[in-house]
Amino acid sequence: MMFEKVLIANRGEIALRIHRACREMGIRTVAVHSTADNDAMHVRLADEAVCIGPPSARDSYLNKAAILSAASITGADAIHPGYGFLSENADFAQMVEEHGFVFIGPTPDHIRMMGDKITAKQAVKDAGIPVVPGSDGSVDTEETALEVAAGIGYPVLIKATAGGGGKGMKVARNADELVESWKLARNEAKAAFGNADVYMEKYLGHPRHIEMQILADNYGAVVHLGERDCSLQRKHQKVLEEAPSPALNADQRARIGKIACDAIAKLGYRNAGTIEFLYENGEFYFIEMNTRLQVEHPITEAITGIDLVREQIRIAAGAPLGYTQADVRFAGHALECRVNAEDPQTFVPCPGRIEGYHAPGGLGVRVDSGLYSGYRIPPHYDSMIAKLIVFGNTRNEALMRLRRALGEYVIEGVKTTLPLHNRLVQDADFVNGDYDIHWLEKFVAQHS
Ligand code: ADP
Repeated sequence: MMFEKVLIANRGEIALRIHRACREMGIRTVAVHSTADNDAMHVRLADEAVCIGPPSARDSYLNKAAILSAASITGADAIHPGYGFLSENADFAQMVEEHGFVFIGPTPDHIRMMGDKITAKQAVKDAGIPVVPGSDGSVDTEETALEVAAGIGYPVLIKATAGGGGKGMKVARNADELVESWKLARNEAKAAFGNADVYMEKYLGHPRHIEMQILADNYGAVVHLGERDCSLQRKHQKVLEEAPSPALNADQRARIGKIACDAIAKLGYRNAGTIEFLYENGEFYFIEMNTRLQVEHPITEAITGIDLVREQIRIAAGAPLGYTQADVRFAGHALECRVNAEDPQTFVPCPGRIEGYHAPGGLGVRVDSGLYSGYRIPPHYDSMIAKLIVFGNTRNEALMRLRRALGEYVIEGVKTTLPLHNRLVQDADFVNGDYDIHWLEKFVAQHS
């Protein structure tokens, strides 16, 4: 009872990625798009396309009623939300199910639980996952903030419970800074998420960001597909990711993998998910769980040979996982560069027309992108336009291949972050795998 038709509720490279998985499974696809995306590659390739609104995401890609209508009109069986937009919107997942479609993802309850960082942290802690020391729940008064901070010790990080994309996060190094930061974080959270609730955590000084990919079917089978190291960040946004992490060995991977799988089983979670940790001095500290496919999923696919979108679809259709942890084999090394249409020095978005385009190829090179020569990047959405993923038998082979592939990549007409990646892959610290979550900010500052 596999789906016959899947509606892809997203745009850009991830819409194309989902279309490709469906096509290979013999499933027909429906693209939904705004008027700004009439000429997008996934719209061209999908079996059917429905325009759901004007360019503004609020009126199109976030328009639940329009997406559900498109699913009805086209007779789709299931909806894949991709990442961003409605992918972690529990109300949407619920509406999808109430209208008789399958939501390709976890249950609305699990999305809701993990979408609130305070309930998420409590839930995973109860399920045996180590968390960053911090407040028990939200910090609602200045007095509580001061008390909690004194308890965990400075510096502390104030975070929005509804947070995402690094918004509503403030560091406080002492009591004087704390009250001000607490107010700022609440205001920013209120403005960005309509929810001013914040909580507090110990601010870790030099951690790596390491996340575990898990897959769980509807019958209690859970596996992990290893970790991704996403420490190379700018303004809490990932720039380049690798798998496996240069900082972990097989024993450490197996240990945190087992903790993650046991917790997922206890929570009764299903479909794909990512548990994000900070890793410092040999210890893992949970920061959040993402209940969706992640941008950087291809590096996990590269080292495991498992198609994550295919697995999401199979699980949602009710198929059993069909393999155990022992069947999951890790081989080689993968790196991913996120290519943004931005000035590589100032990071100011640079939408516009692609005048010339040539994607790299060859053994172990994958480009996930909807770009083509003559395509006009609309100014209304995220500036990520391509992902370059390379695989090698060793980290060094992957690095050499990445340098080679970056050298072949031509994107003309708009500024991109390719020059940043070109510099990054020559840097000695990066080559040695010697970096934490703050390293890239310093690297960028040195080169601007
Ligand atoms: P968001 O959902 O906004 O992305 P996360 O909780 O995932 O927020 O954190 C994003 C990034 O912020 C992390 O990858 C890390 O770089 C930094 N960060 C989060 N929590 C801490 C902490 N307790 N100490 C130090 N850095 C942190």
